[in-house]
Amino acid sequence: MTLTLLPHRDKVGLTDGELLVAGAWRPARDGATWTHRHPATGEEIGTIAVAGPSDVDDAVRAARRAFDDGPWPRTRAGQRIGLLHRYADLLREHAEELRALQALDNGIPLSFGGIYAPSVGAAADVFDHHAGWVDKVGGETLPPYQGGDHLAMTFREPIGVVAAILPWNAPFLLFAQKVAPALATGCTVVLKPSEYATFTVLRMVRLLAEAGLPDGVVNVVTGPGDPTGEALITHPLVDKISFTGSRAVGRRIVAASAATLKRVSLELGGKSPTLVFPDAPDIGLAAMTTMGTVTMGLSGQACVAHTRALVHRDVHDQFVAVAQMMAGAVTYGDPFDAGVLASPLINTRQLDRVLGLVDRAQEQGATLVTGGTRPDGDLAAGNFVRPTVFTGVRNDMEIAREEVFGPVLAVIPFESEDEAVALANDTEYGLGAGLYTTDVRRAFRLARRLRAGTVGINGFQIEPHLPFGGFKQSGLGREGGRSAVEAYTELKTVLMPLTDELM
Ligand code: NAD
Repeated sequence: MTLTLLPHRDKVGLTDGELLVAGAWRPARDGATWTHRHPATGEEIGTIAVAGPSDVDDAVRAARRAFDDGPWPRTRAGQRIGLLHRYADLLREHAEELRALQALDNGIPLSFGGIYAPSVGAAADVFDHHAGWVDKVGGETLPPYQGGDHLAMTFREPIGVVAAILPWNAPFLLFAQKVAPALATGCTVVLKPSEYATFTVLRMVRLLAEAGLPDGVVNVVTGPGDPTGEALITHPLVDKISFTGSRAVGRRIVAASAATLKRVSLELGGKSPTLVFPDAPDIGLAAMTTMGTVTMGLSGQACVAHTRALVHRDVHDQFVAVAQMMAGAVTYGDPFDAGVLASPLINTRQLDRVLGLVDRAQEQGATLVTGGTRPDGDLAAGNFVRPTVFTGVRNDMEIAREEVFGPVLAVIPFESEDEAVALANDTEYGLGAGLYTTDVRRAFRLARRLRAGTVGINGFQIEPHLPFGGFKQSGLGREGGRSAVEAYTELKTVLMPLTDELM
């Protein structure tokens, strides 16, 4: 039987996507729409409005008014804390519906809900975590440096109107990582979801109103990068751009922001290494965890996927055997089937790109151990690629340097710790790194030497209170924890003489 997802769409009651401006949902002024085709079947799932420059202008001005005229930036801390906690509870109550919408958007299987970071539960925890910051983001009182007695202090104030631009691959978590600190600090928001994960985000936005968020505080413009994203990043009334997505678009945002010197936070891609030493606690587990990051749930379409396995020669063959076995065990297909573990690639452009990278890796001399092909039969209409393992990879090959964003692991052998570190750091990216060893001193020695934003020793996890972000071309700034909250504020210095003496 041919796979179809239309009954699930009808059951969830998915309706066409509209823009949210100053509390009112509406289509684009010129009626433009974009049709979402499901990555597993190619079926039309629904349409979304494509916001043009005038729609984006409406949304930014609504956010501007809500910031400049209030009341949101001036609400009492207790009110904001209550709202963020109420919203976290609403997310948890709607977890099942949101997971179904996500499966209709980007094809991530329902089974993936059990993994913490991309779950609705993690997104809810991010809101709870940020609620805790609302009454703790403050300034300092500083002693006089010279002159007469005077008071010097700093205020932390909300940064203003935030353009929050999301990718498609983890809408729950990434929505939360941007919207929660923005609301906690009193900012207002124009949100642009990815055109490949809009329906999930629109439902999350509707729940904000149910939690009691005033109109105009969060506005939504839907549509692709051009025209919608471009109109947003070049809008002069936006104070900050918070972006998660590809390095190419990140560079474009830095260039566009220069005109008005907007504040910019970027969470970009990676080519993260995992280093496996012979004294790893369990070589099989290291292979399964590493392979899991490039197959389970997102089929390697995860910024933190550990796509370069640097494996000591003594345990190389054992590692590869387990990775190959795991590749064969990963199931893909109907995202609503509880037995399905992995997703299709998001679109045909990405499918062609991954297959091209696989072909060129072989031309450049890498050995294809397993995968690298598309399934046929029922799944032929979807953008599926079988989990893929390459050995004999050199770090200068394209497959070791480019972010593949697909289910592809490149295994590179090493002999010494220094060689492993040099290989690990020989990349333009610096998002994550993993290492497997039972030698505690080596673990911390390498945790220092690896140039990456997150280093996992014998495993890793993304959590709401931990800073997350990249070194080098993996980004600018951090999400999660105090550093993220502060990135949504401006620091103001306030001075006052306490005597008639000059300061
Ligand atoms: P993308 O860069 O293609 O798109 C991201 C968002 O930017 C989408 O909403 C898109 O419509 C918008 N966009 C595209 N062109 C634009 C433009 N010119 N101006 C403004 N907006 C524009 O990325 P994607 O395919 O959605 O996501 C995959 C990428 O995201 C990968 O590189 C992945 O590593 C990265 N990512 C990083 C993190 C992280 O936390 N570091 C997390 C998830 C994904």
